[in-house]
Amino acid sequence: MSEQLQQNIATAQGYLARFKERTLGHYINGEWTLGSEDQTFENTTPTDQSVLGNVVQGSVADVDAACAAAHAAADGWAAMSGAARKKILHKLGDELEKRAEEIAMVESMDCGQPLRFMRQAAIRGAANFRFFADKAPEARNGLSLHQDQHTNYTVRNPIGPVAVITPWNTPFMLSTWKIAPALAAGCTVVHKPAELSPLTATVLAECAEAAGLPKGVWNMVNGFGSIVGKALTENPKIKAVALVGDSATGKKIQAQTANTLKRLHLELGGKNPVIVFDDADFERALDAVVFMIYSLNGQRCTSSSRLLVQSGIKDKFLSALKVRVANLKVGHSLDPATEVGPLVHTGHYDKVTSYFDIAKQEGARVAVGGVSLRDELGPGNYVSPTLFVEAANSMRIAQEEIFGPVLTAIEFETEEQAIALANDTIYGLAGYIWTSNTGCAMRMADKVEAGMLWVNSENNRNLPSPFGGVKMSGIGRDGGDWSFDFYMETKNVCIAHDLHSVPVLGR
Ligand code: NAD
Repeated sequence: MSEQLQQNIATAQGYLARFKERTLGHYINGEWTLGSEDQTFENTTPTDQSVLGNVVQGSVADVDAACAAAHAAADGWAAMSGAARKKILHKLGDELEKRAEEIAMVESMDCGQPLRFMRQAAIRGAANFRFFADKAPEARNGLSLHQDQHTNYTVRNPIGPVAVITPWNTPFMLSTWKIAPALAAGCTVVHKPAELSPLTATVLAECAEAAGLPKGVWNMVNGFGSIVGKALTENPKIKAVALVGDSATGKKIQAQTANTLKRLHLELGGKNPVIVFDDADFERALDAVVFMIYSLNGQRCTSSSRLLVQSGIKDKFLSALKVRVANLKVGHSLDPATEVGPLVHTGHYDKVTSYFDIAKQEGARVAVGGVSLRDELGPGNYVSPTLFVEAANSMRIAQEEIFGPVLTAIEFETEEQAIALANDTIYGLAGYIWTSNTGCAMRMADKVEAGMLWVNSENNRNLPSPFGGVKMSGIGRDGGDWSFDFYMETKNVCIAHDLHSVPVLGR
C-alpha cells in the first residue's frame, strides 16, 4: 500500500467516524431526526465490505412529515425575491467548496468511485448551485405574444414541493444537479438519496442548513425506494418528481404517480454507442473511447458502452484499445493512482460479473479482462476492465445496460449500418460520433436516436444545454432554462386592447 493511500485512508476514516458513531437519520423541517422507525440497515464500503455505519429505514410517516414541511415552506420560499434566493444559493456553493475534501473522500468510500474523479464532485456541485443561483432572478420570466387585438404574456410560477430521487453512481453531483434548479425556481424539496450510497446527502443537507435555507425548504429522507421512494411519489403534496435511476424504476414511478397526476422528469439508463469511422482522429478517438467507459467505473449513465468501429480501422483500433484497457489501474478508490475502483455493491458486482459468462455463451470473445480481481485485491468489489469483441448487436452484452467497466465492440461497414446499429436498442440517452467528415457527422447527428450527441468529443458538460434521453432512457430535459420549465408552471395572461367585439348572447 502506497504512503499516499495510507494517508488518504486515515483522512477518510476521520471524516467517516461520525457515521459509525451515530445512526444516519433524516433532515425534516430544519431538524435532524431518526424519524418514526426503529429499524436500520447497514451501509458498507465497496473497497473492503466493512461497515461505514447504520442508516435509519425511513417510513411512510417520515415521508409524510417531510412533505408536510415542504408544503408549509413552499409559499414563503416562492415569495422570496430571486435576488435573495440567489444570495443563499451562492452561500451554499461556498459551503460545498469549504468541505470539498471531505465530500470527495466520503463519496469515494461510500460508492467506490476513484478519488481522482470525486475530487471534482464538490466543485462541480458548487458550480451547479452558482449557475442556477445566477438564473434565479430571471426564473419567472416569460414571453410576450402579440395578437392584433390582444396581448398575451406568460409568467412562470414555482410548481410547489418537488421530490428529487437520486441513484448511487455519482450521488453527490447528481443531487446538486437536480436540487439547485428546483430551489432557484422557488420550489421546496424532499430529497431521497440512494440507499446504497447515502452519506454525502447528509453533508449536502448540512451545507444547505449552514447557508441559511429557511426551515422546510430542503428535506431529506433516507431509506428504501420501495417504501420511502414510493410514498414520496404517491404523496399528494408533491407536485413533480425528478428521478435519476434505472428504467425499471422510471416505469414504476410513472405508475405510482398516476393517481395524483404529477409532472415527471425521468433520467434513466442507456446503452450508448460510440461510433468511430475510418477517418476519425485515431488517438483522440481512442482516448475518448477508453475514458467514456472505464472512467467512473463504467457506472455512468452516459458511458459509451457499445463501440461501433468501421471495418477499415477495426483491427488497428481494437489492438490499440486492448493495450490501453489491459493497462488500466484497478485499485482502492482512495489510491490516487487508481483509474477503476470497486463496484458500488456486491449485488451490482454479481450482476456485472455475470456478463463475463453471458458474453462467452453468446459467442463473443473476451479480448481483455472478464475476471474478478478479488483474489488479487481483497474482498472489495473489484473487477477487471473488460473488452468484448466479435460481438453482434443482438447479443445481451450489446443490448443490456451492464453499468460497469465493460465495453462491447461491434464492426460496421457503412454509414447506414452504423445508424441502424446505433438505433437498434431500447435506449436513447447519448451517442458519440468520431469522424473528420463534417457531412457524415451532421447526417449521423440527425439520424441517431438520442437526447444528446457529441461529435469528436467525450461527454462535455455545458450547464445551459439540455440534458436527457429518448425511448427507455427517459422523459424530459433539464439544464439551463429547461430546468425552470420543469420546476415551474407557465401561466398565460391574455389582455384585450378593447378593440374587438365581444360576442353577444341573450341581449
Ligand atoms: P435505481 O433506479 O435502482 O434507484 C434510483 C433511486 O430510485 C434510488 O434512490 C432508489 O431508492 C429509488 N427507487 C427505487 N424504487 C423506487 C420506487 N418504486 N419508487 C420511488 N423510488 C424508487 O437506480 P440505481 O441502481 O441507483 O442507479 C443506476 C441507474 O441510474 C442506471 O440505470 C443508470 O443508467 C441510471 N442513471 C441515469 C442517469 C441519467 O441522467 N439518465 C444518470 C445516472 C444514473
